[in-house]
Amino acid sequence: MHRVTFQKDGITYEAEEGQWLYDVCEAAGASVPFACKAGACGTCATQVVQGEESLGFQKVREIRTLENNGLDPTQYRLLCMADVHGALTLGASANTQQATASLGLCKVRVVEYRPLTLTVCEQKFALESGEINFTPGQYMIFHVPGLDKVIRRSYSISSHPNDRKHFEICVRAVSGGFCSNFIHRLRPDDCIQVEGPYGDFRLAEESQRDVLMIATGTGISPIKSMIMYLLGQPGTRRIRLFFGLRNVSDLFYTKLLSEMRDTHPRFEPTIILSQPDPVGWGGFRGHVTDLIREQVTLEEASRTEAYLCGGRPMIDDAKKLLMQKGMGVEHIRHENFF
Ligand SMILES: Cc1cc2nc3c(=O)[nH]c(=O)nc-3n(C[C@H](O)[C@H](O)[C@H](O)COP(=O)(O)OP(=O)(O)OC[C@H]3O[C@@H](n4cnc5c(N)ncnc54)[C@H](O)[C@@H]3O)c2cc1C
Repeated sequence: MHRVTFQKDGITYEAEEGQWLYDVCEAAGASVPFACKAGACGTCATQVVQGEESLGFQKVREIRTLENNGLDPTQYRLLCMADVHGALTLGASANTQQATASLGLCKVRVVEYRPLTLTVCEQKFALESGEINFTPGQYMIFHVPGLDKVIRRSYSISSHPNDRKHFEICVRAVSGGFCSNFIHRLRPDDCIQVEGPYGDFRLAEESQRDVLMIATGTGISPIKSMIMYLLGQPGTRRIRLFFGLRNVSDLFYTKLLSEMRDTHPRFEPTIILSQPDPVGWGGFRGHVTDLIREQVTLEEASRTEAYLCGGRPMIDDAKKLLMQKGMGVEHIRHENFF
């Protein structure tokens, strides 16, 4: 066990070897604020008073987020990016969230609710005041009123950035999940507080490379925004999408994707189901990683950039495969949801 001391809260907690610091903070009841829980927003940046070496190396993503928030990576750590490997004393949190969000905390109103499957819905929100200015791939943090405190969760924007008065999200109701189910229950005219936009999952600027989008489940959300944006731009870049779902009842956005393909021949969506019923599905069976293995040639990988969104295991596997095919790590961007 390793002793973690939260100086500001006057709390100590005995953490297990390798325990995720987010879990430690939750279990200890520490006041460190969290939002994206994925190293993208900087909300949980906290000073390390003693025992920095107990947290292991900083990832490039962590350093970039700290620097983007004007914080010194030698003094601050993102607690959502670290595991505990020794005794540790933490100081004050930097509370960076207002510094990076162009919209600040604001109220939005549901203007359209659209169930897409039994567990996935799309919600369209209108800003009560002001305008939203986001780049495709970014997300908003929703403030969901809990029993005794507000719980914050991140949801990627799925709509086109041209509409500055509205934005849409696409959410899967996670079994036993508080916020995702709360958002599912929202109906037109309900209001909720949000802040953002946040995140560095963005399209590479001025790139002329072909594009490979890879999404599983609601990971399609920021990818959809990116694709809509790209297809609205002049150019001939080939845009492929590998979209993975489990079975036929999970299918959504199929009509939208076919329409986009019919209007834009350079857009090539492929849907693959990992657990389809024995009958009733004539399309691809397997995982998005199978599509990478079978369909991405070495030549294609060398002139393509990839954008990945979904769960961490898929992202790790897909990234490894793309690199084996010769795609440079600098041409692979990702957002992991959990
Ligand atoms: C940057 C970012 C963007 C995101 N964008 C989206 C989005 O566009 N659409 C979307 O649906 N989700 C998105 N998420 C995930 C979302 O923020 C929540 O984590 C998710 O909705 C679960 O929250 P909850 O409060 O309902 O569940 P919690 O109460 O946090 O968790 C309940 C249980 O479910 C498990 N769990 C948590 N999240 C998931 C998950 N995603 N899948 C399976 N099990 C899970 C937990 O381990 C726990 O056991 C995003 C996450 C990040 C970090």
